[in-house]
Amino acid sequence: MDRGELLYEGKAKRVYRTADPDLLIQHFKDDATAFNAQKRGTIVGKGVVNNRVSEVLFQLLERSGVPTHFVRRLSDRDMLVKACQIVQLEVVVRNVIAGSLATRLGRAEGEPVPEPILEHYLKDDALGDPLVNDSHVRFLNLATPDEVAAIDAMALRVNEIVRACLAERDIVLVDFKLEFGRHHGRLLLADEMGPDTCRLWDKSTGRKLDKDRFRGDLGSVEEAYEEVGRRICEVAA
Ligand code: ADP
Ligand code: MG
Repeated sequence: MDRGELLYEGKAKRVYRTADPDLLIQHFKDDATAFNAQKRGTIVGKGVVNNRVSEVLFQLLERSGVPTHFVRRLSDRDMLVKACQIVQLEVVVRNVIAGSLATRLGRAEGEPVPEPILEHYLKDDALGDPLVNDSHVRFLNLATPDEVAAIDAMALRVNEIVRACLAERDIVLVDFKLEFGRHHGRLLLADEMGPDTCRLWDKSTGRKLDKDRFRGDLGSVEEAYEEVGRRICEVAA
């Protein structure tokens, strides 16, 4: 399957059409952004890791009954996916306090939460992806209440499945961001799932193995991505 017209260039990926109007190619770049794209850089090899980790996790989720847009990986950086109409919501699930939630609620990073915290953000770079509630979602016509309920149930299911899989690889799934798409009347998990969009901590040392190393200038960013790739993809292969 060859790349056709460039449909969209985002912060971390490019999306291309294919000869089949129902299929798109996601191309994973090494470009990294943080803090609403105020910080920009390159993480060498990141795109390859994100593509492979996403493949492994999407396949795991499909086997576990969660429908995804994944069709197949085409190359190191290209993934064939079903063309969706993306729901303009970023769905975040949290198992441990970190990042913006620590600031917003005034809690210490690292505090475990007894049951997962689920949040919705408006996917809008110009607005800085603000937190929204159900009334906002309804006002903005982002999704129907039934869709929101289905999206939330899928997000919590993703959390159970991926959290357990990563625990076996000595990785704590601290939190993650998901995007969903509509495809022929059905909701699918879309976009990507990997160290750009998940907080992943080493279980024994608490070492950060994700994009927070880039955000916080913690060093060894490439090594952390490679380590996640090894732990998730080599065991799965
Ligand atoms: P962004 O800067 O908007 O986060 P990315 O660099 O992540 O963009 O590029 C991927 C873009 O493709 C995102 O906007 C995402 O919503 C969109 N996308 C992901 N999966 C699909 C899909 N299956 N169909 C259509 N669009 C998709
Ligand atoms: Mg994105």
